[in-house]
Amino acid sequence: MYLIKTPRVIQKLFPNFHWRLQSSVEKPTLYLTFDDGPIPHLTPWVLEQLDRFGAKATFFCVGNNVRRYPEVLKQVLDAGHTVGNHTTHHLDGWKTDNVPYFHDIRHCAVQLKTSLFRPPYGRLKPSQAQFLQRHYEIVMWDVLSGDFDPELTPDDCFDNVTENASPGSIVVLHDSLKAEEKVRNILPRLLEHYSERGYAFDRITPELLTDRSTVTKPRLKTA
Ligand SMILES: [Zn+2]
Repeated sequence: MYLIKTPRVIQKLFPNFHWRLQSSVEKPTLYLTFDDGPIPHLTPWVLEQLDRFGAKATFFCVGNNVRRYPEVLKQVLDAGHTVGNHTTHHLDGWKTDNVPYFHDIRHCAVQLKTSLFRPPYGRLKPSQAQFLQRHYEIVMWDVLSGDFDPELTPDDCFDNVTENASPGSIVVLHDSLKAEEKVRNILPRLLEHYSERGYAFDRITPELLTDRSTVTKPRLKTA
């Protein structure tokens, strides 16, 4: 069970997580994010599509893939996108003890040299969230495409985004084999759909989060 659109009440319950960014009406912006890569089979194709539309995006990478495919990571960075930490082994926070979980994240952070972090499955225990938000920018999402769900068709995933995203939304797609068929179908369509409507696609950076986040609480920063 998962929610395509993260309800505002949940976003407000966890005000230290980033769910969406502020975006003006004059320059509506979407923040596309790609989880679970990089992989040579799909990530370079994703980069080509983004490039066709002058779009920038954010890739939440799994450390193990970064280790196996450093040349694909380099392509992502060379194209001007940003990368975020998605743990080294795609660990589920609910099923992992805190110390090994934090070590796994730390390892990926060192590889990628980034403070952006997205927990796999969006799952964090309260104690994990409390610790991690002091050291990382925790980037969740406003809209899931559902591209990972075998029950959904590409059209369902396209509609999930277009019916739920609004200026400033952080949208989740995957550069994974599991999502490949859907991503190859919907990514060009989404880029075209929103470009025609005057949207820009931007990457998430720690600086942008400081400037445009909807996070309101005072935040402790120790690293
Ligand atoms: Zn993931």
